[in-house]
Amino acid sequence: MLADRIKALAPSPTLAIQAKAKAMRAQGIDVISFGAGEPDFDTPERIKEAAIRAMRKGQTKYTEASGIVELREAVCRKLKRDNGLDYEPADVLISCGAKHTLYNLAVALLNPGDEVLIPAPYWVSYPEQVKLVGGAPVAVPTREAEGFQADPARLRAAVTPRTRAVVLNSPNNPTGAVFSSSALRAVGELAVERDLWVISDECYEALTYEGRHISIASLAPEIKVRTVVVNTCSKAYAMTGWRIGYAAGPRALIKAMGDVQSQVTSNPTSVAQWAAVEALAGPQDEVAKMAGEFDQRRRVMIHGLNAIPGIRCVMPGGAFYAFPNITALFGTRWQGRSLRSSTDVTAFLLDEARVAVVPGLDFGSDGHIRLSYATGLDTIEQGLSRMDAAIRSLGHDD
Ligand code: PMP
Ligand code: GLU
Repeated sequence: MLADRIKALAPSPTLAIQAKAKAMRAQGIDVISFGAGEPDFDTPERIKEAAIRAMRKGQTKYTEASGIVELREAVCRKLKRDNGLDYEPADVLISCGAKHTLYNLAVALLNPGDEVLIPAPYWVSYPEQVKLVGGAPVAVPTREAEGFQADPARLRAAVTPRTRAVVLNSPNNPTGAVFSSSALRAVGELAVERDLWVISDECYEALTYEGRHISIASLAPEIKVRTVVVNTCSKAYAMTGWRIGYAAGPRALIKAMGDVQSQVTSNPTSVAQWAAVEALAGPQDEVAKMAGEFDQRRRVMIHGLNAIPGIRCVMPGGAFYAFPNITALFGTRWQGRSLRSSTDVTAFLLDEARVAVVPGLDFGSDGHIRLSYATGLDTIEQGLSRMDAAIRSLGHDD
């Protein structure tokens, strides 16, 4: 009945977990959710006010399909200010969240059978979007012992004549890895040498706690001409529901992505675009404040996880996720059967500890689970203590 492409499509598991935790709460079950990758902070007042002003001024009509020029200019100024990158408004596309940006890019760039290298663990939507347009995602593992750092040698070994692009996501969802400038440079050189596109998802840029965020496009002009920089207002400004993401890159590709968008959604919501102008162009102090709070939560979360028997977690340098290794729990017994996968551990934590997490399998690693710490410190402490109690109650096979 449905199209073939749907048979291979996995719905977003991060959004599904979030919905499940919400449904359980609605039934009166006290669930702690580490599922959603969404800041718990409210959108700053100055940004809301800008949207209200736009509404009052009647800025409620269709805009240019690629986004209002004021926002594309604000994006150019942001990219100059924070990343040292020079773009003009015609090199920028505004979309309905970075997820939509990335999908426009997949439609505009990939032919059926084109391979896209994706360092693993990876954010759930990259492989699914590539598959939706008939491309072939190729997961290229990173090493946990090296903090899930980008691995240029493994990427190089994975290139074939069909390879069209490589996706870089730093700071990384789900691992929190911040890719080093030497790794980024090596991947950039590989892209130049093998004529690949670089898709640089920098959505968590503002949440870099260790090291420094570097946009790969800023490393060399020959890398910039083959790079699409992707970013969003969702994380830095607590604006997930407003749905404003953007891309900057070579004009012909940005135009093609805009043409796709013009036939599919038209412009992103007009008043959300005006809110985004204020977010990007206004004072940036609340960004640093929110990042400071996330950093504090990061330490509590990672130390707490490492104190639980059977859990081992790398210290992430950015984003707001912990991605602990749970393989030591495999073989323990719960309700008469053995835990054998990240899906089993996730089900056990939800039923036994009433804590919602996302299975690592969806991010390309069945030996891990993902926890978001974009939630209050009390919630983190309570969730950790529930997990600790539940895990200590597990039986053993022998
Ligand atoms: N990239 C990454 C790595 C993400 O985690 C997310 C999810 N927030 C997105 C892109 C998309 O974000 P949005 O569509 O809200 O801009
Ligand atoms: N990106 C966030 C996450 O990974 C939000 C959900 C989604 O868009 O997948 O949880």
